[in-house]
Amino acid sequence: MINIKNLHKSFDQNEVLKGIDLNIKNGEVVVIIGPSGSGKSTLLRCLNLLEQPTSGIIEFEGKNLLDKQTDINQLRQKMGMVFQSFNLFPHKTVLENLTISPIKVKGEAPAQAEKTARELLERVGLKDKADSYPSQLSGGQQQRVAIARALAMNPDVMLFDEPTSALDPEMVGEVLAVMKNLAQSGMTMAIVTHEMGFAKEVADRVIFMDAGIIQEEGTPDDIFNHPQNPRTQDFLKKVL
Ligand code: ADP
Ligand code: MG
Repeated sequence: MINIKNLHKSFDQNEVLKGIDLNIKNGEVVVIIGPSGSGKSTLLRCLNLLEQPTSGIIEFEGKNLLDKQTDINQLRQKMGMVFQSFNLFPHKTVLENLTISPIKVKGEAPAQAEKTARELLERVGLKDKADSYPSQLSGGQQQRVAIARALAMNPDVMLFDEPTSALDPEMVGEVLAVMKNLAQSGMTMAIVTHEMGFAKEVADRVIFMDAGIIQEEGTPDDIFNHPQNPRTQDFLKKVL
């Protein structure tokens, strides 16, 4: 579904991605771990062109994202993104947060958009919050709304950038549970996280990034129980 070849990204003189090669298959759950500043967010942001890569190739569903002919907005609709900060529309209800883009961007009929939105709210355990405003919800609830909002666009892949890092500890589990459920439903996912237990349990493949390079990748068992690269070993010693 996603083929990344020799991806480079620099901010002025600072080369942040130094040749990333990564393929993500349909239905695969890829978890990206690594120290702060290693380029994890930049990689995810290049994937949906929130950042313009300096060079390399990113193919999504067979189309080169960096080709000028490609309709980026259309492809972007196929990629849901969830950030550390929830970024909900504060002056819209939960239901409106879920229906606004399907109606305005995809031209869905309002009744259909609302039906889908209510189903998604049920799926993330927030059926009774449809008419609440974001400020009336806990952080964990807001992040679950953010996930449902991304799903409302019916994406083919979901990108998560540290979705639980801004949450109080007691709310982390409810968000991870929604993500795990999504993974089990067959969604293709790329997830940057520091939740190593989640990575072990849910990832098909774990990528360890450091200094703008994929230093090591493998199954959770490979990476967590038999890391080969000294940088991986050192990182895991610090976080586990
Ligand atoms: P991570 O997500 O792994 O913590 P990031 O991708 O956020 O790492 O950042 C990697 C490096 O890129 C950091 O040195 C950061 O300062 C730099 N960087 C990220 N975004 C920008 C930007 N918009 N402008 C300049 N430098 C940036
Ligand atoms: Mg980051």
